[in-house]
Amino acid sequence: MDCLFCKISEGSIPSQKVFENERILVFKDIQPAAPVHVLIIPKKHIAFMNDVEEQDLPLIAEMHQVAQQVAKELGVADTGYRLINNCGPDSGQAVHHIHYHLLGGAKLGALTG
Ligand code: 5GP
Ligand code: ZN
Repeated sequence: MDCLFCKISEGSIPSQKVFENERILVFKDIQPAAPVHVLIIPKKHIAFMNDVEEQDLPLIAEMHQVAQQVAKELGVADTGYRLINNCGPDSGQAVHHIHYHLLGGAKLGALTG
């Protein structure tokens, strides 16, 4: 399958990893929008949050648990951070493999539509 984040998760495209287990990978965004900007992905290919099925919910929950842990390790747990998922064309989702952006390390701008 021609999916950038599957290739990153398999290691055929390099990334700066900050966390990895059998199910989840966290790596630095190549174009950081904040001092801390990492992407949390499941290793399983799911294209859109809209495609998540009941059987995937433990994986989604674990992504949140990993977000907490990584926020702590990157020093933004107390100062605060933003967790964002883009889903579908209007959101600007560029990579069709679900991911959360974890952003922090500075006062973030207000969310706009
Ligand atoms: P989206 O717009 O799909 O929510 O976010 C995709 C994110 O992936 C963007 O923030 C973009 O900078 C990041 N990205 C795109 N290509 C690569 C890559 O090859 N390596 C890494 N580490 N990040 C990438
Ligand atoms: Zn994929």
